[in-house]
Amino acid sequence: MTKFRTLDDVDVKGKRVLLRVDLNVPMENGHVSDATRLERVAPTINEIADKGGKVILLAHFGRPKGRDAKDSLKPVAAALSQVIKRPVAFADDCIGEPAANAIAALKDGDVLCLENTRFHKEEEKNDPAFVAELAKLGDIWVNDAFSAAHRAHASTEGLGHKLPAYAGRTMQAELDALDKALGRPAKPVIAIVGGAKVSTKIDLLENLVTKVDALVIGGGMANTFLHAQGVQIGKSLAEKDLAATALRIMDKAEAANCAIILPVDATVSFHFAANSPSFAYGLDAIPPDSMILDVGPQSTARIHAAIDDAATLVWNGPVGAFELTPFDRGTMVAAKHAAERTKAKKLISVAGGGDTVAALNQAGVAGDFSYVSTAGGAFLEWMEGKPLPGVEVLKA
Ligand code: AMP
Repeated sequence: MTKFRTLDDVDVKGKRVLLRVDLNVPMENGHVSDATRLERVAPTINEIADKGGKVILLAHFGRPKGRDAKDSLKPVAAALSQVIKRPVAFADDCIGEPAANAIAALKDGDVLCLENTRFHKEEEKNDPAFVAELAKLGDIWVNDAFSAAHRAHASTEGLGHKLPAYAGRTMQAELDALDKALGRPAKPVIAIVGGAKVSTKIDLLENLVTKVDALVIGGGMANTFLHAQGVQIGKSLAEKDLAATALRIMDKAEAANCAIILPVDATVSFHFAANSPSFAYGLDAIPPDSMILDVGPQSTARIHAAIDDAATLVWNGPVGAFELTPFDRGTMVAAKHAAERTKAKKLISVAGGGDTVAALNQAGVAGDFSYVSTAGGAFLEWMEGKPLPGVEVLKA
């Protein structure tokens, strides 16, 4: 496995540790409505503080164009303090005097959160002068924000060239899990890819077919593949203009010895609505005025069997319109079965992407997977096989 410098490689005592974290939590009425991301970074913060480092948190929040009070990290810092059970001081700017003064006041083991890095447009430009301003504030840089690692921004990448750079514990866990899934996985490896569209996942599919032994394609994107093979898919969501792309991906899979597992039947309805009457049809009998909203019962059984055959599973995207019962069935059966196999120690299961995490939560099994990535874009880019700048810079 590629080696990354971690907190095991540095003595943080007495050091000013610039710690890049993901504090981009959902807020409702000024309060954090889901603290998952705060819980994920807590171990790294607490470890550095317990070892006597001065923890200086860097993070972005939202997509502000310049300074904007609604995107202040101040309320998030207060919520974080509750999660880590330590005081979290706050500085109104991430560079300049406000930051320097707040850092000068820190004792070993204290925690400080600096204001939203994106209040400076130089952050996203990875501007060298801005990087230098940030670097002045710390002795070392620790990156614990895998979810922002696909961006080469000042606080997510630039600092790694200016200061000694280390992976935080959350980053380390994410990299370990991803390595087990696609880096040096137990074989056979299967991927399940679903979701609405092929167009957003072409790179991902092209990369996966070269890495996995079997690729299950479900969801709306499967319709495009079925259409490309001449199946009449009625009014189903599909990108018919991508038929050639779908066929190219299938050819590439064949050349790479990757079995493509497409639906063999479909659960259809005449309305895209929860609880609308549903019918199972073979692929030769889909009514022209209906739409495919989930994989059918035989396809569900095939996915179940494919999970049984696998030692490693990588999953992104629901295999049906899982927000609408009963069209969640294929996704729920696959999720629960993968969780069972994981609990029985027969499967390493790694899943990621917003809708996938929501689907696993809906199935009540997110905690039973080997690893569930809360990183959206970075997880997808990793599945696409692209180098992530914020990870590259941590390589030993
Ligand atoms: P994505 O964000 O690309 O992973 O797509 C997830 C969305 O795809 C979810 O909102 C699902 O409801 C939707 N989806 C999955 N299967 C289908 C389908 N057969 N028809 C329409 N939408 C679907």
